[in-house]
Parts: sequence; structure tokens; C-alpha cells
Amino acid sequence: MLQCQNYIGGQWVAGATGELFDSINPATGEVISVAPRSGPEDVARAVAAARAAFDAGDWPRAGGKVRAAAIRCFAQRLREHSQRLAELLTRENGKPLGASLGEVLYAADVADYFAGLARTISGEASRPSGQAVSFVFREPVGVCALIVPWNFPVSLSVWKLAAALAAGCTVVLKPSEHTPAIVMEMLTPFDGVAGLPKGAVNGVTGFADTGAELVRHPDVDKVAFTGSTRTGKSIMAAAAETLKHVSLECGGKSPNIVFADAPMPKALDGAVWGIFRNSGQVCTAGSRLLVQEAIYDDFVSALLERTARIKVGEGFDGDAQIGPLISEEQMARVLEYIEVGKAEGARLLCGGGRITTGPLAKGYFVEPTVFGEVDGRMRIAQEEIFGPVLSVFRFRDDEEAVSIANDVPYGLAAAVWTQDLNRAMQVSERIKAGTVWLNTYHLLHPEHPFGGYKQSGLGRELGRHGLEEYLEAKHVCLDSSDVFDISRDRGRKSGK
Ligand code: NAD
Repeated sequence: MLQCQNYIGGQWVAGATGELFDSINPATGEVISVAPRSGPEDVARAVAAARAAFDAGDWPRAGGKVRAAAIRCFAQRLREHSQRLAELLTRENGKPLGASLGEVLYAADVADYFAGLARTISGEASRPSGQAVSFVFREPVGVCALIVPWNFPVSLSVWKLAAALAAGCTVVLKPSEHTPAIVMEMLTPFDGVAGLPKGAVNGVTGFADTGAELVRHPDVDKVAFTGSTRTGKSIMAAAAETLKHVSLECGGKSPNIVFADAPMPKALDGAVWGIFRNSGQVCTAGSRLLVQEAIYDDFVSALLERTARIKVGEGFDGDAQIGPLISEEQMARVLEYIEVGKAEGARLLCGGGRITTGPLAKGYFVEPTVFGEVDGRMRIAQEEIFGPVLSVFRFRDDEEAVSIANDVPYGLAAAVWTQDLNRAMQVSERIKAGTVWLNTYHLLHPEHPFGGYKQSGLGRELGRHGLEEYLEAKHVCLDSSDVFDISRDRGRKSGK
């Protein structure tokens, strides 16, 4: 069993009160780690370390070259430790080992991307009037609290960490209470990175109250959060007290729209893995499948046949395609939604229960579940379930598809499957979502912005937009009449 500690000012330290909590392997119920339940004293120490590194340290003023080298060194160490980190991720989160390894390597790639961006930060200069010369400098926002969930604990931490460090910010990272060990272990590669001062990167483990303490702290300048919409709203309200910068990546209920001319079997794969990847615990999960009526019956029967072949298993089982849900509580929530769907009159087409036989009975495994003939007013059509539960809708034409797609409070992602390019572009323009995939699903690149419309969030991560979230714009205006001889300049222009 791992003994986690907080990472503050470049030191691994115990929590101030000595209170600890367990993280659990969701496939077996076994305890994986104990971690400090950090309170106000731990948060104050971590914020003070980040504040000192920002206000008095070199990091915010180090050039892009120094910052890029440090972030790239971290990326390289992530790669060197990828197998060990992937195994821990699988033990603590439950996902298949191949997916864990992919997540760690992808995180290293994201870090490399932001290392490159660190060298591109530049401002502007202009002469807005004859007298004035203006400079616009881009400066780091300051001390950032990074609060992350458990579903992609490594990659979602690095999305924030690498962008914040590239901008010159210092950070305090707060992992989910379900995945403290993997996130704190992921911070060990920062130990001794050349050019990175102690205190630039800090991490504290704990529950919601630890995160709330960070959000309240007056010396934190920005909160970058990924998690549920409910928590996002409370963070935004709490951050208003000290008017902090806030960026929020929240929940989703993404439509996956299959037109009758969709490319097959790609669209079928997209429908299955759009929802069931990571056991449905993906913010962009294609949890609402919209199928055009001409192909509805055939498509749904092929979908059920494919779903029945999904191999659910423990993450170290080489054949497993999806693992358990993260916790007993999350499993209970998902099973309750399945009961709600049945009670609302949706047709349960497959799955619908916990796996209670064989070795999986001791973990939090739920069968891949499909509901047909779902009505837009049902709770399973409107609310984020965050589990392996798909709601299928029938639609007539483009108009009806767009109307169903937009009829939820969320706007994180969507997909359109068709071979008609005009239709693909027209429908994607009308969908209110931060990402629209055409004839694919779940494809993200470090280069392109990711974020939500409506109640799916505020701000963007990844890409240049992701870096911008950690930068201020400062205007420095110089009266240049003593610097440049304006009268002589005018004289030359008028030919005197
Ligand atoms: P959650 O909101 O319960 O918790 C997320 C993090 O916030 C955890 O670290 C938690 O301890 C902390 N937290 C909880 N309450 C807090 C508070 N009041 N103040 C400060 N911090 C607080 O979410 P979760 O269950 O860990 O993750 C699942 C949710 O995350 C889903 O809704 C999913 O859609 C969302 N998510 C969104 C994205 C995205 O990029 N849009 C990506 C992954 C997950």
C-alpha cells in the first residue's frame, strides 16, 4: 500500500493534522493508498510556497527557453516512468492497462506541446497617437489552483499543469479523492527538474473541502477546474468573493448523430465507443445516440450485437476493453439512473445491471446498457449519468436532429456521421457545442481548443486558447514626445 504525502515547496510532507483517507481499487475493493486529508493549514502552506515562487522567484520572469526546457524534461521523465505510472493508474482507477499507458504517453505529448508554446509568448507594440507608444505585454496570471477529477487523472492534470507552467504561473494541484496516489506519483518527475524553482509546483490531496479551501484562499489568482457542473457552479460562486479568474470544464450529454448515409461500419464503432469508452466515464461520452428513422432498426440491432461483445474486465486482464466504475457510490448512482429510465418508460434493450458473477462480483462493474425509444423529456435524456448507459433516439430529418441535439443544458461535444459534406458542415454549424466531430469520435489533439458551451463550462484548454487562460495582458503606455522628436518628424513629412 502506498503512503502518499503532499508536495509543498519541493518537499514531500505529511498532512498537518495527520488525518488520512484511503483510495480503493474499484476492480477489487482493495486499498491502494492512504493520503493526507489536507485542511486549511496544508492549503495555506502550499499556497504560500506557490506565492513565494511566483512573487520572489525566477519562474514568471524566466524566458520561454528555460520554461520550455523544464516542461520538456518533465515530459521525458513521464515517458521514462510510463509503465510504472500506467500500472498505478489501472490499480487506482480500474481502466485497462493499455488505456492507462495511452493516457500517460498522451499527457507527455501534451506537455511537449506546451513546452513548445512557452517560447512563442509575445506581445505587441504600436503608436496609437503621435505622442504615445504602447506596449502590450503578456504576463502570467499568478498562483493557480488546479482541481481535477478521477476519470483521466493524469492527462487532465497535465492539460492544466503544462499550460500554467508554460505561461509562467505557479500551481497547487488538487487531485480527486478517488485518485490521489496516481496524481501525486505523477508529480515525482518534477523533483530536481533544472530551472524549475521549488514551490513552482505543489500538490495537496483531499476531498471537496480541500478544493473549496483553495478556491477561497485570497492568495490564489486563478482556479482551473474539471469536474461536474454542480461543483463548477459552486466554485464559480465561491471564486466571485475574491474575483479570481476561473476556467471550468464540466459535464456533458453529447449527441452522436447517425444519418442514413453514414459510413459503415465506422459509424457503428463510433456509436459503441462514443459511449462505452472508459465505461462511459468520459465528459464527452456520446450518451445520446440519434439514429435516422430509415436505418433505425438495422442500426440498433447491429449496435446491440456489438455491445454484447464488449469485454468487461479487470484492468490487468489483457482482453478487457472496459473496466469498473470508479466507486461503489458511482455504481449506485448509475444503477439508480437505469431504474429511472425503466420507470420513465424507456425500453431497456440490453444490460441494466451490476455484474454479480465470477471474479468481477467484488468490483464495481456495470453491464453496458442501452435504452431505446427515449423521449427528450426523460431524465435519462437530460442528465449526465457518467456510466455505461446509452439513450437512443429516432429522428426524421436534419431539422429534428439539430433540435434534439441542442435540447439539453450541456454543450460539450457532438458527432455527425454522414457522407454528405454539405450536411455535415451545416449541421455542425447549428450544434451548440465546443467540439463537433465529423465521422469520428473522441479525437483530441494538443493543438486544438477543448471546452464547453452552455453549462458544460467556461474557457478552453489545449491549443493556444488553453495557454491564453493563464495569461494577463498588460498595457504599458509611454509618452514618447521626449523620446522621439515629433516636431522634426512632422516637419519631414510636410517637406519642410
Ligand atoms: P466532482 O465535481 O465531484 O469533483 C471534481 C474535483 O473537484 C475533485 O477533485 C473534488 O474533490 C473537487 N471538488 C468537489 N467539490 C468541490 C468544491 N465545492 N470546491 C472545490 N473543489 C471541489 O467531479 P468528479 O465526480 O470527480 O468527476 C466527474 C465529473 O467531471 C463529470 O461531471 C464529468 O463530466 C466531469 N468532467 C469534465 C471534463 C471536461 O473536460 N469537461 C473532463 C472530465 C470530467
